[in-house]
Amino acid sequence: MESLEQPVNPGDLLLLHGGKLVNEAGVSTAIRPYMLLVTSIQGNSDDTPTPGSPVSTVDSVTVCGSPISTDSPNKVDPRLDISAIQVRKVPYGITSKNGCWTLDGPHVYYTPQEGETNSSFFSELLGKDLEEAKEEICDEDLMYPKRASIADTHCLGDFMPPGAGVKLMSKFHGRDALRYYFNGCPCCNGTTWICPGCGGVSTLWPDIFASCGRDQACPICMGLDIAMEDKSYLDELERLEDIKSGHCSGTQFSADDMDEALSLATERYEALEARHEEMGHLGHESAEKMLQQWKDAF
Ligand SMILES: [Zn+2]
Ligand SMILES: [Zn+2]
Repeated sequence: MESLEQPVNPGDLLLLHGGKLVNEAGVSTAIRPYMLLVTSIQGNSDDTPTPGSPVSTVDSVTVCGSPISTDSPNKVDPRLDISAIQVRKVPYGITSKNGCWTLDGPHVYYTPQEGETNSSFFSELLGKDLEEAKEEICDEDLMYPKRASIADTHCLGDFMPPGAGVKLMSKFHGRDALRYYFNGCPCCNGTTWICPGCGGVSTLWPDIFASCGRDQACPICMGLDIAMEDKSYLDELERLEDIKSGHCSGTQFSADDMDEALSLATERYEALEARHEEMGHLGHESAEKMLQQWKDAF
C-alpha cells in the first residue's frame, strides 16, 4: 500500500504526474497529469497499525485554514494511507474561475465553486457522500478535449495505481505546474512574452491590455504581478520613446529623460530576469543582454 510522506489537508491541491501503465502486450501508456483537490481525509481510530503499514491516524485536519479536531487521540503521523484521502479532479482555469485551479507565476490556487465558501462547504463535505460532488466544465475541457472524459473518482489511490510510478506533489510551486502539468506555458508557448493586444487579453487580463507590437511579460508563466509591473514600465518607456522620436511636438528629449529611460529599462529587465530564474525558465536571456537589445533599438 502506498502512503504519503507529506501531510495533506482538505482544501490542498495535489499535482500528480509521471508514471505509466503497461498492458499485457507490454505496451506502455503514459498517465496524464492530474490536479486534484483534497476534499476530506478519513481518520482511522485504530491505534495499533500493522508494522510496516502506513499509519492513517490524524489528530486534526485543517479545513481551509481552520483546524478541526477529530475524535482520534492518536499522534499525528504525516504518512497517510492514500486510500483514506478523498479527492476531486479540478479543471484548469486560465484566470480565476469557480471550481478551477489557476496558475499565476509562482502561485497555484483553487477558486471555490459557488456556495463552496471556506469551511462551511468542507464541513458539509466531510459528512456527506462524495459521490454527490459535481464537476464543472471549465477552460481545460475546451483546451484539451481528450482530457475531459475522466471518470469521476474520489479516492486518491485510484489515481495512483500500484507500481505505475505516479509522483505526487503537495504545496508545490508554479514552476512545478508549468513543468509537470503543462510541460511548457499554455499561454505564450514558452517564450515568456505575449502580445498585449491579441488573444483575448482585453477580456482575460484587462489590466495589461495594450496595443499590439509590445513584448509584454506573460501573466501565466511569469505571474500577473510582474506582468502588470511590466505594463507600467512599457507605458513609461513608450512615452519617453515618443518624445525622443519627436512625436510630441514642443517637448525636447533631454539628458534627464535618457537617464530615466535607462534606469527604467534596467529595473525592468532585472525584475524579469529574477522572475525567469524563480520560474525555472530555461534559456532565457540575461538582464544584461535584454538591456543591450533595448539600447540598440531605443
Ligand atoms: Zn497583437
Ligand atoms: Zn507564458
